[in-house]
Amino acid sequence: MIWGIDIGGTNIKVGLFQEANLIYHDSFTTNTKDNGAFILKEVRDFIFNYHYFKDYPLTNIKGFGFGVPGPVKNNYIIRCPNIGWESKDLIKEFKELTNLEVPIIVANDANAAALGEYHKSNLKEDILFITLGTGVGGGIIIDGEILEGVHGSAAELGHLKVEYDEPLLCSCGLRGCLETIGGIKGLTLLARKLYSIRTLPTKLKEDDLWPVEVFNYAKKGDQLALAIIKKYADYLARGIASFTVAIDPEVIIVGGGISNAGEILIKKLKEAYLDYAYYAVKDVRFQLAELGNRAGIYGCYYLVKKHVG
Ligand SMILES: [Zn+2]
Repeated sequence: MIWGIDIGGTNIKVGLFQEANLIYHDSFTTNTKDNGAFILKEVRDFIFNYHYFKDYPLTNIKGFGFGVPGPVKNNYIIRCPNIGWESKDLIKEFKELTNLEVPIIVANDANAAALGEYHKSNLKEDILFITLGTGVGGGIIIDGEILEGVHGSAAELGHLKVEYDEPLLCSCGLRGCLETIGGIKGLTLLARKLYSIRTLPTKLKEDDLWPVEVFNYAKKGDQLALAIIKKYADYLARGIASFTVAIDPEVIIVGGGISNAGEILIKKLKEAYLDYAYYAVKDVRFQLAELGNRAGIYGCYYLVKKHVG
């Protein structure tokens, strides 16, 4: 049995795998009190409770995989600002908490999700994974391995600069990052901006300017909603085109909450991408992620599985 643990800013998802099968999964709120000092203890308690009540001995556990919301290099956490963690040796701390001598692997959450999607879709080619949720994250899989980079930041595509004229401040301290437009908040702001200066007919109301509603109206052919999605896809495409010319992947996988919009997002992204892509990388394939918010725990499982064989 292998545990996959995906630590996010809002909640922590845990999944128990037997071989490649997810036999149990759950989530609980991330306790960010005291700079996240209780997070690992609460993960341990949650998991130990499960084993206790199910009458599974802890010796069944063959390893733990962790996904964390920040850069990771060689299993060492560099910084996770939204849960309050500064540089952290998670492996050492979790071993002390559990007293279990099993492998622990740590990865950036979007990188883990990329690996989860890669294996679940049975891909063999290099991929670029982009996640559009509260923030914008990414993962690169080359030859079946996560590309971590020297500073653990190889696929931080939420922080590509895509807006120069009216750049908004990003959570990272820079301005004009893709995340300021590509995340849920960013798309909402973009929708409000284009609504306030609307020049196209629309049935959208001021209360409808949320990603889900904008996509719903766009699917019905609403002209302003379509223009908002076109503009949104344009920003994303600028970022993606910079990455495809750097790593030349076969497939772009799009995940995160916004990807629930479905095929319309892929279609608009592809169209916009062609405006920015270098000619030799124009035929890259776009596809929707399959695992939803479980991609992270799957990726954590595969990381440990690879390690324990
Ligand atoms: Zn940024």
